[in-house]
Amino acid sequence: EMERSNSETIYAEACEHIVGGVNSPSRGYKAVGGGAPTVMERAEGPYFWDVDGNKYIDYLGAYGPIITGHAHPHITAAVTKAAENGLLYGTPTKHEVKFAKMIKEAIPGLDKVRFVNSGTEAVMTTIRVSRAFTGRTKIMKFAGCYHGHSDLVLVAAGSGPATLGTPDSAGVPKTIAEEVITIPFNNPDAFKTAMDKWGDEIACILVEPIVGNFGIVEPQEGFLPLVHELAKEKGALIVYDEVITAFRFHYGSAAELLGLEPDLMALGKIIGGGLPIGAYGGRSEIMDTVAPLGPAYQAGTMAGNPASMLSGIACLEVLQTPGLYAELDRLGAMLEEGILQSAKKHHVPITINRKCGALTVFFTEETIVDYDQAEATDGERFGKFFKLLLKNGVNLAPSKYEAWFITSAHTEKDIQDTLVAVDLAFAELL
Ligand code: PMP
Repeated sequence: EMERSNSETIYAEACEHIVGGVNSPSRGYKAVGGGAPTVMERAEGPYFWDVDGNKYIDYLGAYGPIITGHAHPHITAAVTKAAENGLLYGTPTKHEVKFAKMIKEAIPGLDKVRFVNSGTEAVMTTIRVSRAFTGRTKIMKFAGCYHGHSDLVLVAAGSGPATLGTPDSAGVPKTIAEEVITIPFNNPDAFKTAMDKWGDEIACILVEPIVGNFGIVEPQEGFLPLVHELAKEKGALIVYDEVITAFRFHYGSAAELLGLEPDLMALGKIIGGGLPIGAYGGRSEIMDTVAPLGPAYQAGTMAGNPASMLSGIACLEVLQTPGLYAELDRLGAMLEEGILQSAKKHHVPITINRKCGALTVFFTEETIVDYDQAEATDGERFGKFFKLLLKNGVNLAPSKYEAWFITSAHTEKDIQDTLVAVDLAFAELL
């Protein structure tokens, strides 16, 4: 048995002072059978050390941002320098301009960008801008996709293939949920039906172009082109939420990989190199509706702060290393193959969805293309697997459909060590 008493003590104290003991609900271990979440003390490269001195190979990657590994020296140096020069000015800096130019060069279709502090803010503002630009109020989203915690996107599907939403959180008014149409991903018929019914009233369609929030799920052939085509026909804007996907699979957007161009895009996570950030952007014609040029208001005391800018610039510089994404893909394939072989050996039914260095292990034999399928996978078995891996020194997100993120700090040896842990876990699982 591993020593966890310090994690347990700190978590118990946390529960007295911080609601639920965590600052984001997904960090708790409720979905994996309960217990104190592991309290981490230090992170470097692909590794974590917890407060009891246990070491882990990490695949959480802080839910996505840490693609260069923890405490990358180039990013650490940039952030140190930022701190020495003063953390926050409330004035323009040249770093904002440099970073905006870097992002524009990497991602086609962003004439103008705005930096904010989180993915939530970025998406929330793309909705406001879409509404201001189109003069419409309704929005459409896909079931199971997460777009932050603002009111409009905390809405679940009702019953049936095309529905007006119902609040997914207490405190979200029913009247707001009714502005949101939620349909299943990868379902052309449901999409067409919804567009026939509400297309003319829709300000924007929010899309995770490669889904990250009910596992890694790619769009099926022809699905997103159809979304673009009908949106254009009905005058609805397309917003790509690339908070997870931008700079994840190559040096740029998922939109570019798919050969599609949205009207607006929301960014976050990786582009901050580990510091708080969000960004949104698009064509000038649309972005110019934002204050101070236009009537749509958005502001922020911390927006574009020097530390986040310099950390983001340093992270993108690291990501320009030749061969970096090819190596993420190679290690991803190695991990995928190894997990599949081990599962077969131990007769554990699984399916893996993988794109480059991001993969999801689903406890099912079904092909996963939408949220209902991901939701129906075996959570109890995942919970056991999660705890066995933790005991064997591998840290995942405590969620049955969160991705495993390989970083550029992981080595072949780390993958091999992980596969040994995975094999032990599968052996004990059934
Ligand atoms: N959009 C997507 C696709 C996300 O995955 C997330 C966070 N997981 C968000 C938006 C919200 O980002 P943040 O947590 O930075 O507010």
